Amino acid sequence: MRGEIHGEITLSQALPAGRAALEPFFPALAADALRRVLGPTGAGELTAWHLEGDRLTLTLTADGSRAHQALLAIARQLREQLGKREKVGVRAVRAAHYRLTFDVDAAPERPVQLPIPHSLSFDGTHATLLLEGLDEAALRDNWSDRAAALVEEKVRRQRYGGKEQYWSLLHQGPPRDHRFDRDPTEVMIERNWVRNGPTKGRWFLGPVVAHLLRTMERIAIDEVLRPLGFEEVVQPHHDSFDILLRTGHLEGLPGEFYYVAEPKSRDPADWERFTDLVKITRAVPEEELARLVTGPVAVNCYAQCPTIYWWLSGRTIADETLPLKVYDRTAISNRYESGGRHGLERVDEFHRIEPVFVGTPEQLLPLREDLLARYRHVFDDLLELEWRTAWVTPFYLQQSGGGGVEDDRERVRGTIDFEAYLPYRGPREKAEWLEFQNLSIVGEKYTKAFTIRPQKGTLWSGCSGIGLERWLIAFLAQKGLDPEGWPEGFRRLAVPLPRDVRFL
Ligand code: ATP
Ligand code: ZN
Ligand code: MG
Repeated sequence: MRGEIHGEITLSQALPAGRAALEPFFPALAADALRRVLGPTGAGELTAWHLEGDRLTLTLTADGSRAHQALLAIARQLREQLGKREKVGVRAVRAAHYRLTFDVDAAPERPVQLPIPHSLSFDGTHATLLLEGLDEAALRDNWSDRAAALVEEKVRRQRYGGKEQYWSLLHQGPPRDHRFDRDPTEVMIERNWVRNGPTKGRWFLGPVVAHLLRTMERIAIDEVLRPLGFEEVVQPHHDSFDILLRTGHLEGLPGEFYYVAEPKSRDPADWERFTDLVKITRAVPEEELARLVTGPVAVNCYAQCPTIYWWLSGRTIADETLPLKVYDRTAISNRYESGGRHGLERVDEFHRIEPVFVGTPEQLLPLREDLLARYRHVFDDLLELEWRTAWVTPFYLQQSGGGGVEDDRERVRGTIDFEAYLPYRGPREKAEWLEFQNLSIVGEKYTKAFTIRPQKGTLWSGCSGIGLERWLIAFLAQKGLDPEGWPEGFRRLAVPLPRDVRFL
């Protein structure tokens, strides 16, 4: 990458001697600032400068993406020098234009757009990005680096679009005989065990299904988490935007959240018109409501690990606590699934247990093996499922230079999906299997993002999303809804079932 910046430094007042006042020291000051920012090997220079009234304009070039940092360093040193020599200050610094040239993975197939003022052109895989009007805060905050990274990411997405996830089979258990081939949600509706909820993608579970879901929960806790030393935590249902900025979820999934709004006031007087309208019309006065509540201030829990990392943020974890093993089963996951909704297996509100573990790589790799062994015991011995595992790498890890590809070969950092065959979807070779849980080790991604430190060495983390509705559907789709068809181990835990609620 190479950068060329046209900077503007505004002084607190014009210099009486004009350019002559800067002539003796400014070029050397700029050269010194460039050297400090770029180090002994980086190349960069001041190619032009001009003073008119209170405005100093200058052009700088630099290797890499440091030209804006050099501009800031020059403004800082100039502030010092002018203060001493002329009693004149520096009022503002900005980049009128900032040209970055760099290579991308492939020539783009379609135009690439950014939401800040710019122009962008490509010569094959060579990109020229011209950013316009960056103020001091944007320069300090490295918007330019992020804009260039975003161009690279968008080009990559065009190229690999659709193939968001790499999938490779790890382990496949034996095929089993299934005596049931219906969609279990349909049968549950017929039996009045569940009712499609009052709002989108949410279900009311009657006593039988609530009992079965809790039985699955008990199995996960008693057979997997407690034996491995995981302890329960209880976390809030709402995630702050700050948390989601740090995990990357806010840029990754904004269309999948349920957003939380607050009343602007709790004073009944402010709500009088609203309540009066309700009394007269017996309808929701939507415009009035929109006026009385804020925009989104938080997000309903999407997954539990972000808030668990928040709990640990800025802390140093004592050696004796590592590996830290906790789980949450309180926060209910909310996701806007839109067109993908189906039965109880793809809903907008679901119950997940999420174990999170933090420790050194040497602690986490064996822990993953222990978790796998415990899960295997549950799915093979208790539930007797037909299931498989696959190594999947999310798009961001796969394509980033940050080690995702090597990890793929060594299978150290990354995600294991657990999938079950659903007979109602057709032959096992052709049908899409249901991901019913996963298990990830993410390296330092979140310990870094939340500044979670060890006393010494490297701190990694990982998590596992245990989807209880998915466990239940995987089981019922293979074993049916009648306890006579259930494996002995599960029947012992689940039977007797609550009595059906009968409707006439
Ligand atoms: P999918 O690819 O099926 O959408 P995901 O990759 O979005 O799943 P994760 O974010 O990895 O899922 O969440 C982990 C677990 O949460 C999943 O393995 C599954 O058990 C559960 N889960 C996710 N989305 C839903 C949903 N809409 N309904 C029920 N369970 C879900
Ligand atoms: Zn997680
Ligand atoms: Mg999903």
